[in-house]
Amino acid sequence: MSGTERGGATPEKTDVVVIGSGFGGAIAAYHLAAGGAKVVLLERGPWVASDEFEHDFLLGSSYTRIFDFVVGDGMSVLGGNCVGGGSVVYFAAMPRAPRFVFERAGNIGRRMWPAAIDRDALEPWYDRVAEALPIIRQDWNDVTYSGGLFAAACAHAGRTANPAPAAIDRELCTNCNWMMAGCRFDAKRSLLLNYLPAAVAHGAEIRPLHEVQHLSRTDDGGYRVHYNVIDDEDYRITAGGGTLDARLVVVAAGAGATPVILQRSEHALGPMPPAVGRYFSGNGERLNTASSTRRRSGRSSVWTGEARRTRPRRSARDPAW
Ligand SMILES: Cc1cc2nc3c(=O)[nH]c(=O)nc-3n(C[C@H](O)[C@H](O)[C@H](O)COP(=O)(O)OP(=O)(O)OC[C@H]3O[C@@H](n4cnc5c(N)ncnc54)[C@H](O)[C@@H]3O)c2cc1C
Repeated sequence: MSGTERGGATPEKTDVVVIGSGFGGAIAAYHLAAGGAKVVLLERGPWVASDEFEHDFLLGSSYTRIFDFVVGDGMSVLGGNCVGGGSVVYFAAMPRAPRFVFERAGNIGRRMWPAAIDRDALEPWYDRVAEALPIIRQDWNDVTYSGGLFAAACAHAGRTANPAPAAIDRELCTNCNWMMAGCRFDAKRSLLLNYLPAAVAHGAEIRPLHEVQHLSRTDDGGYRVHYNVIDDEDYRITAGGGTLDARLVVVAAGAGATPVILQRSEHALGPMPPAVGRYFSGNGERLNTASSTRRRSGRSSVWTGEARRTRPRRSARDPAW
């Protein structure tokens, strides 16, 4: 409970407030806590333990509890809503962005990424995350049945395919196909297994069911974070609220929620740049489902003992990951 909630005159203070516990928030929280800062991480979703992840689609199961789906105008956003954010619900495919992505230019020819960001600049950071999660490169013996089927269909169509690098512990993975509802087996290397416990070990405090509403300024030049405490069963019910003061605030609430917090804070922080909350593009561009069979894929042996002889060719453009 914060100082504001207690009705006391002294507001609760910390060095750093991190909003959101996905990749952006958890990694920042870890490094700041390890560097000696007093860090409080506010997360709007629940903190779900591995054995609470369920293998069903029932309303109220982990499948529905740990997602946030915002139906937008022209684009809808599906994101994580739990401690660990998107890392808990994601598919753990970990390819590094190819070089050409950073060189893309808009229609007046200007490079879209800031000048300082390109593949070379990101490479050491990719290396660090790959070590911490960790990330493995699957080979053809590791890919699932459906992955083999997809690769065979690619080969049949004259295309190449490569197994994706993945943040998965092969020894623990059962190929249960429920990874989107959270991994019961700790095989998916979500942030619940690495950066978040490491941040806690360095003194960071994680507060689930704390939904940040907006930010304001304090008289000493810092920030005041205003939050609601959310009911564990029904997220529409508010079970209290408070404020937390900090010198530094990391707003890492994801692409859908960060702009909302910033825009709600305009009265205190000043007008946001017009790009905040605009110009989204889907990360996968398109989500397709398809059904196929061994017969239709044209290759029946790609996932069998004959895999080595019939596997699809490696792509010449296979990025070093
Ligand atoms: C189903 C699915 C599969 C995916 N598969 C892959 C994949 O295989 N490979 C890959 O690279 N990427 C994948 N992604 C994308 C990846 O998960 C995201 O790009 C990544 O999680 C974004 O990190 P983030 O820190 O920006 O946001 P998030 O991980 O979304 O974290 C934001 C956190 O902030 C919290 N939050 C939001 N609003 C507030 C608030 N007001 N107050 C407090 N907390 C708040 C949210 O609950 C969430 O926990 C997938 C995403 C989904 C949804």
